[in-house]
Amino acid sequence: MKLSEKAMKVKESSTLAITAKAKAMKAAGASVISFSIGEPDFDTPAHIVEAAIAALQSGFTKYTDSSGILKLREAICGKLLKDNGLTYEPKQIVVSNGAKHAIGNALLAILNEGDEVIIPAPYWLTYPEAVTLAGGVPVIVRTDKATAYKASAVQIEAAVTPKTKAIMLNSPNNPSGSVYTEAELRAIADVACRRDLIVISDEIYEKLIYVDTPHVSIASFNKDIYDRTIVINGLSKSYAMTGWRMGYTASNPTIAGLIGNIQSHQTSNINSITQMASIAAINGDQGCVAAMFAEFAKRREYMLKRCSSIKGFDLAPPDGAFYAFIDITALVGKSKGIKVDDAADFAAALLEKKGVAIVPCADFGCDMHIRLSYAMSMDEIKEGVDRIEAFVSEYWG
Ligand code: PLP
Repeated sequence: MKLSEKAMKVKESSTLAITAKAKAMKAAGASVISFSIGEPDFDTPAHIVEAAIAALQSGFTKYTDSSGILKLREAICGKLLKDNGLTYEPKQIVVSNGAKHAIGNALLAILNEGDEVIIPAPYWLTYPEAVTLAGGVPVIVRTDKATAYKASAVQIEAAVTPKTKAIMLNSPNNPSGSVYTEAELRAIADVACRRDLIVISDEIYEKLIYVDTPHVSIASFNKDIYDRTIVINGLSKSYAMTGWRMGYTASNPTIAGLIGNIQSHQTSNINSITQMASIAAINGDQGCVAAMFAEFAKRREYMLKRCSSIKGFDLAPPDGAFYAFIDITALVGKSKGIKVDDAADFAAALLEKKGVAIVPCADFGCDMHIRLSYAMSMDEIKEGVDRIEAFVSEYWG
């Protein structure tokens, strides 16, 4: 049977695979601490849940406009204006099943077979797979700790070929936490405009920045870059709404029309109840976002302090998101009693020996890095880091 070559090129999501393995170990009775999934541990704030209950009870359970109800798209336009200085009309917004779906839609709308998409590494592991699925070719631009894991405009321009269609940006970044400054984004915007490229700007972690660098949307600089940017955002991370599945694209009317058409033949509208909950999230009191942020900030401090003192761990303070991104090159090839040649070996041994799940970052474009999500309780973080410390001292001490 000759199945889809495109589909067969797509890899399993290693974060979901590790999370599933950790869950299975837990179910079998093992004590497992998981730093693997990028999911806030908080409950969705009560006023959002109440809006969903009210929607259910009032019978708001039918198909809606495929791209999202007008009131929700108006709320998103209001948010984009208030937070990002971006002016959109509701017809430019398509509400999708999470930012992941929004990214997939955006790529389907812009790519032709063989078009190249520049992706700075480290990147969220879905990006190259989503590009491949849409018929494109991911072109990876490497970065390192010296430049805070950010790609410069010069590096990006050097990767442009006649086939380049788009650049994927993610600030704050998963997994590195890096936040691009306005000047860095302006330089990249200049490349995009000069070289006639589309920018897909994934801003899902915009509310989680721990340093003075403000979040700036690349789309906000001028009309040219606004027209060629597809802004991606959603509620999963900042409102603890991962399971509700709400993300969106904001783009020029032509691209938005294509995205809307694609979605109308694939999934149609997202869950009607989630849409009502999302209006409550976006238009309601933002105190819940600030409260969760404050908790993440404490955890980040703790993670930084503990992880930087572990032998062989090299980490830069993450400016945003909720991950510690750690280079373990110093440990590779030097373990006693176990074989650790890369981050994947390290992660597998740590899970087996100490019941701690972390993400090896090969699928994020960095073989020698690990990612620890600190979107979990402080008690769990403490216990998990204790175990990691014990693991490193046992096999590298
Ligand atoms: N973008 C980035 C950078 C992410 O890390 C994630 C989730 O981990 C997403 C998008 C997808 O979020 P969702 O589909 O839950 O909205």
